[in-house]
Amino acid sequence: MSREMFINDCPFCRQGIQKIVFEIPTGEFFVECDECMLQWESVEDAARDTGRCGHTHLGEQRDATLEEIQANGWEKYIQFMGQ
Ligand SMILES: [Zn+2]
Repeated sequence: MSREMFINDCPFCRQGIQKIVFEIPTGEFFVECDECMLQWESVEDAARDTGRCGHTHLGEQRDATLEEIQANGWEKYIQFMGQ
């Protein structure tokens, strides 16, 4: 089992965590809260709590892998559950 990766606690609902998600049909990465499902268009926006957010990505999705996160230079934004 890999540890769950996230950016921050959700600033909107304060219950969930912001996770980096891959939308399979479009090949796009975005960030989504696992509780309220609020989405941010980019990892940088979510990390800085800025930018446009909404519920625009509706396609089938899966969690981004650590390899994908590293390939995009996002590892500086992520934390691991339990740390
Ligand atoms: Zn939330």
